[in-house]
Amino acid sequence: MTDCIFCKIIKGEIPAKKVYEDKSVIAIYDINPKAPVHILIIPKKHISSLMEINKGDKNLIGGIILRLKTVAQELGLDKSGYKVVVNNGPGSGQLVFHLHFHLLGGWITKAGGWRV
Ligand code: AMP
Ligand code: ZN
Repeated sequence: MTDCIFCKIIKGEIPAKKVYEDKSVIAIYDINPKAPVHILIIPKKHISSLMEINKGDKNLIGGIILRLKTVAQELGLDKSGYKVVVNNGPGSGQLVFHLHFHLLGGWITKAGGWRV
């Protein structure tokens, strides 16, 4: 989709700090983080929200869930824990209408403290 910011990132028209990429998915650091570590896992296919997925997207969505796990492990969030958030529709706070999974964590420091 031409005026979609995430499609532009996927096409390389807008820069982003990537943590993972394959033929169907990209993972980037959120530009305005709401947690000490805030990653967006984004399917390359333009799907506006979870309301638009269908049976043909089963492997894509399942792959994203598995990717959330491995990205969390690679960033060291697996031991401390993390949240996965998907906003759907304007009433949820969704601002970018290209499906994406927020991976949020990093509040627990290595020393055991709590970082906001
Ligand atoms: P949502 O409110 O669920 O639609 O989340 C959209 C997210 O995309 C927000 O957390 C934004 O900070 C993030 N965002 C918007 N533009 C960019 C960008 N160019 N690069 C990285 N993250 C972005
Ligand atoms: Zn898009």
